Amino acid sequence: MNVYDVIVIGGGVVGTAVLRSLAAYKAKVLLLEKSSDVACGSSRANSGIVHAGYDAESGTKKAYFNVKGAAMFPSLTAELDVPYQKVGSLVAARKEGLSALEVLRDRGVRNGVKVEILGRDAVRALEPNIADDIEYALYAPEAGVVSPYQLTIAFADHAVTNGAEVRLEEKVIALSKEGALFSVRTEKEVYAARFVVNAAGAGAAEVNALIGEEPYQETHAVGDYYILDHKEAGVVRTVVFPLPDERGKGILVAPTADGNVILGPTSRKVPHEEAERNAVTAEGLLAVREGAARLMKGVNVRSAIRVYAGTRTAVGGDFIIEESAKVPGFYMLLGICSPGLTSAPAIGEYVAEEAAKKLSLEKKEKMIPLPKAFRFRESSAEEIAAKAKEDPAFGRIVCRCEKVTEGEIVRAVHSPVPAKTVDAVKRRVRAGMGRCQGGFCQPRVMEILSRELGIPMTAVRKGDAGSEIAPYEVKDGYETL
Ligand SMILES: Cc1cc2nc3c(=O)[nH]c(=O)nc-3n(C[C@H](O)[C@H](O)[C@H](O)COP(=O)(O)OP(=O)(O)OC[C@H]3O[C@@H](n4cnc5c(N)ncnc54)[C@H](O)[C@@H]3O)c2cc1C
Repeated sequence: MNVYDVIVIGGGVVGTAVLRSLAAYKAKVLLLEKSSDVACGSSRANSGIVHAGYDAESGTKKAYFNVKGAAMFPSLTAELDVPYQKVGSLVAARKEGLSALEVLRDRGVRNGVKVEILGRDAVRALEPNIADDIEYALYAPEAGVVSPYQLTIAFADHAVTNGAEVRLEEKVIALSKEGALFSVRTEKEVYAARFVVNAAGAGAAEVNALIGEEPYQETHAVGDYYILDHKEAGVVRTVVFPLPDERGKGILVAPTADGNVILGPTSRKVPHEEAERNAVTAEGLLAVREGAARLMKGVNVRSAIRVYAGTRTAVGGDFIIEESAKVPGFYMLLGICSPGLTSAPAIGEYVAEEAAKKLSLEKKEKMIPLPKAFRFRESSAEEIAAKAKEDPAFGRIVCRCEKVTEGEIVRAVHSPVPAKTVDAVKRRVRAGMGRCQGGFCQPRVMEILSRELGIPMTAVRKGDAGSEIAPYEVKDGYETL
């Protein structure tokens, strides 16, 4: 049996952040993920905001990891080559909302966050399209936007580059501990580990139950979103929130780290069985349109190129980040809802330090860096010419909307955590993320996947098992009709 120092369950931004921090130690570490790629849960479908940290109640784990995590983003994203911009955020309020803003400001000050309340003129200087009746806003200049799935993928790639293993399509279905070793059974294999980290997101309570830990009472709330085309990019410059209410931070309007505009999310309670369904509803989308219009003028929803939904999983009011008292060596990361993306880098470091103390792991002298990726759309004509001379595939555009070349797609298919599906390619290089949403490039991406993976076109999948895009040859189809 394979014996690992640490096994991490769940390949979201939290699990991969833990894995990457563990890869800084001399240790044998493995991440098990049930889906066909990392970043397939909440870490795929969220607002992508690096929250400044005024929202979480002072003294909570949420506040601590949020503020610590946010401070890590500028250097972390530069090191991992992940799209991030420190654009600042505004919580916009009408006249009667001033006292609520003061509460948020005071909490921000207690949490150690740079915040100030601006009057209408200063707000308009930052956001010329702010709604006419907005009188004040809480400004947090340290807030930012990041690509959540690219951060997750970069954590995983960096960990693998430094010796960690990632196994996809391996759902953990049984867990036990005998003596000092855990036995971790997936649908395919049995592994042994000295330390186990439960970072299974919406599945974390189920994983807890596998080892007899408290399953915890989770709640799930879906958020619906619109993504607007790049041409709307100028409509908003900062992250603009309404005043928060008991459901959460409310429907925001913001630029994305990749140059689109995002509107959303709602907060619709769903039962556990629907927590991973992530389907938008017409009512949810209507609420998003109305919420956005209350904040900003000129938001053109007709330029929407995609709608999507993501689901938050909460356990009470705070994150659960602790070692099990019942089962020593079993570490629980439950209820990591917002600001979990912002907090992930700090949670990753903290949990890796906890595991290292427990297992007496030694730190490596240094980590191998991730190479900076060539991106056609960000390169000058001279850089493109030089790269295409090296390898002509970097001069052949496949996705016209996002200007992605064949070379970039091939590189994604052979990256440390390889992209084996159309969606996995899309999350890594943005082929299919543009205006036509893959209408032109998807067949080309499928051909490249088929060629590079050595599989027939009929086996090329959109995502998880059963999502083959063209499962029959046309003639076979006729024969079965
Ligand atoms: C609508 C919405 C908006 C948000 N906006 C923000 C924001 O702007 N800023 C911010 O900081 N945070 C935000 N968040 C919160 C943030 O997205 C989450 O905190 C974060 O993504 C949680 O990451 P995770 O790794 O814990 O969970 P996930 O990303 O869900 O990962 C858990 C993984 O575990 C896997 N898994 C489950 N069970 C098993 C099993 N038995 N075996 C193997 N694998 C398993 C799942 O497939 C999944 O990939 C938002 C969340 C939502 C839903």
